[in-house]
Amino acid sequence: MQRLRGIGVSPGVVSGRAVILIQRAQVLRYQIAPARVEPELRRLDASRARSREQLVDIRARVARRHTELASIFDAQLLMLDDPTLVPRAAEIIREQRVNAEWAVQQVFHEFSGVFDEVSDPYLRERKGDLSDLVGRLRMNLRQGVATARDLLRDLDESSVLIADELTPSLAAQVDWTKVRGFATDAGSRTYHTAILARSLEVPAVVGLHDASQRIQPGEVVVIDGAANEVIVDPSPQELARAAHHVDDRPPAATADAERRRPASTADGVPIRLDANIEFPDDLAAARYSGAEGIGLYRTEFLLTTAPDAATNEDRQYEIYRGMLEGMAPGAVTIRTFDVDEDQLASRLARRPLAGGWEPEEVRTSRQGLRGLRLSLTRPELFRVQLRALLRAARHGRLRIMFPFVSSVEQLREARAMVIDATDDLARRGEPVPRVPIGVMIEIPAAAYTADLLAREVDFFTIGTNDLIQYCLAVDRADERVSRLYEPLHPAILRMILMVRRAARRHSIPVSLCGEMASDPALLTLLVGLGLTEFSMTPGAIPVAKQVLAELRHEELRALARRVLRLATIDDIERELLGALGRLTTKS
Ligand code: PEP
Ligand code: MG
Repeated sequence: MQRLRGIGVSPGVVSGRAVILIQRAQVLRYQIAPARVEPELRRLDASRARSREQLVDIRARVARRHTELASIFDAQLLMLDDPTLVPRAAEIIREQRVNAEWAVQQVFHEFSGVFDEVSDPYLRERKGDLSDLVGRLRMNLRQGVATARDLLRDLDESSVLIADELTPSLAAQVDWTKVRGFATDAGSRTYHTAILARSLEVPAVVGLHDASQRIQPGEVVVIDGAANEVIVDPSPQELARAAHHVDDRPPAATADAERRRPASTADGVPIRLDANIEFPDDLAAARYSGAEGIGLYRTEFLLTTAPDAATNEDRQYEIYRGMLEGMAPGAVTIRTFDVDEDQLASRLARRPLAGGWEPEEVRTSRQGLRGLRLSLTRPELFRVQLRALLRAARHGRLRIMFPFVSSVEQLREARAMVIDATDDLARRGEPVPRVPIGVMIEIPAAAYTADLLAREVDFFTIGTNDLIQYCLAVDRADERVSRLYEPLHPAILRMILMVRRAARRHSIPVSLCGEMASDPALLTLLVGLGLTEFSMTPGAIPVAKQVLAELRHEELRALARRVLRLATIDDIERELLGALGRLTTKS
């Protein structure tokens, strides 16, 4: 038994098996069941194969222009085949029963030490190549499986999370009905995730410095928030104490009713919380999390599972209808395809892109012919989608939304297509009810002309994922600038305010569906900026409800007014977290 001392930020005692998350390096470390060893080894092998294909391809492209640089990739290809790299990672998976990402990272650590000790500067520099290669292997391991978010959603009922740090947006994705508590190396009482833990009533200890290194995945630990400690390999008495506390939790029925309660602030201002979904199956999670409706269904994901759906009106109709009926009486906002040319072409040819669906960062960093712009160049496909949507409208409360709009002209053209599709259906004897039409505000040009767009649509949805990257000129896929991807930049806050004002002046509803709404601290600021409708990852909804219920609308409005006068992101963050710390401990 070993006791680690930290700062208890949320009381309660729980025990569970440790899942380790090393967020700084974006590597999650967890124990796998014996039956998962073989699939994990196959995953490692597939990643090696994909990495080889990519390196061969990059090498060929580089060699065409800069022959001398091709050798860099030769070196990486040699490393990839080195028996001490991937086979060593496989050995770690077998022996320690850990996930492949972690095994690859371990091999990197083992090698780093060796590189650091060699005196030849040329050889020492090869550590950079190794790091690049390991990064590639990890990236390819992620394909089809796991972002930290996906993995956190999959944790089983008896786990506790041990992390180097835990951001609120990540904490908001965790299913806290399963994960019993958490402990982090970083943090203090005013650490924003600490505020979250208190409102969720999840026992938590932070500021442990090196717990994520000292605790092994799968090890049993007790987290005691009141006693400021984490006990590794606890005695039977300690375990019994933790079990007693678990029994004190509210019964499931109370939790269920709690989840279904509509969100509002402490002073009774209603806040609408909808869910963002990618697949029809996500509907269950949306309902379970207490979403009032679907605020964003990203239809392009339909093309990954059913490529022929793009040209098949009946197929799409059935899917949209199922969604509307499944969510009734809640409204469902369906966004028309947001893909670019390459993605669309590969879907239509039923030829998957190399490596399958591209990772989110790559997908969303694309500019150019994408979203509504692309749909307008493919009227035959666009009309199929619009007809399918309009037919489904009879079965629930549908709203149609266009992505990636940058001008009033595009919107008018799209609306004209809606009329054409309505006429098509009328000719077939299928009348169509009136369907609200809205646009995503996710390109700065749309934000700046929100007053003009507002005259011609029924609603706005602010897409901050894209708005931030285009407004701040930060490609999220490029690690060198991704630190500048900052939702709290004054320009972003002003833009959101501008759109909210334009919507109010024209009396149309405006919601916000970017990732930033999933971060409870940012969400409270957005409420302060006057927004009252949001759409987010289903898992984030219960947390959002709890945090909002603790705060008064008028205090959030005052907080936003103070924030809008500040010039730097640091000052804004300090003001926001300081105020939330004060406001939540007061209530
Ligand atoms: C957005 O841009 O904020 C958004 C929600 O859309 P997506 O993430 O699908 O680009
Ligand atoms: Mg977008």
